Amino acid sequence: MKKLSEFSYRRLLKERGLKSTRQRDVIIQVFMEAGDHWSVDELYQRVRQRNPKIGYATVYRTLRLMAESGWASSRQFGDRIARFEHQAEGQHHDHLICLVCGKIVEFESERIEALQSRIAHKKGFQIYEHKLELYGHCSDCLAKEERASKKIREKTERG
Ligand SMILES: [Zn+2]
Ligand SMILES: [Zn+2]
Ligand SMILES: [Zn+2]
Repeated sequence: MKKLSEFSYRRLLKERGLKSTRQRDVIIQVFMEAGDHWSVDELYQRVRQRNPKIGYATVYRTLRLMAESGWASSRQFGDRIARFEHQAEGQHHDHLICLVCGKIVEFESERIEALQSRIAHKKGFQIYEHKLELYGHCSDCLAKEERASKKIREKTERG
């Protein structure tokens, strides 16, 4: 996946008439290292570990700037919390979301993508964007549920 390089980041700020400040640098750095699907709160906690003087509003504004410039995209999954992910040109993935622990797993399927375009085409639609989100329980949570129900079964069998 293409990452926002130091160069593009400076150019981005320049285009916006913004100065590269040490605080912004830290936020961008943390964002690039963090990986995907982080909420502002979570990124803010990480940023604070690096520099406790950085405020929440600065983190939020910087992320919005990244999103407006197409370097990040903001998504809302089941919990209605905005999460940010790196946006690389030409890259696309869809998501599996666990309703219990909130885990987000990414997947890509050429067949699904092709099928979606075919359906849209049949209906006379031109697709510019799509989000495919599958909600359910992840393998870890299913295993936990299985263990819990086994315990209950054992208890009732013993009477
Ligand atoms: Zn897709
Ligand atoms: Zn889970
Ligand atoms: Zn993602």
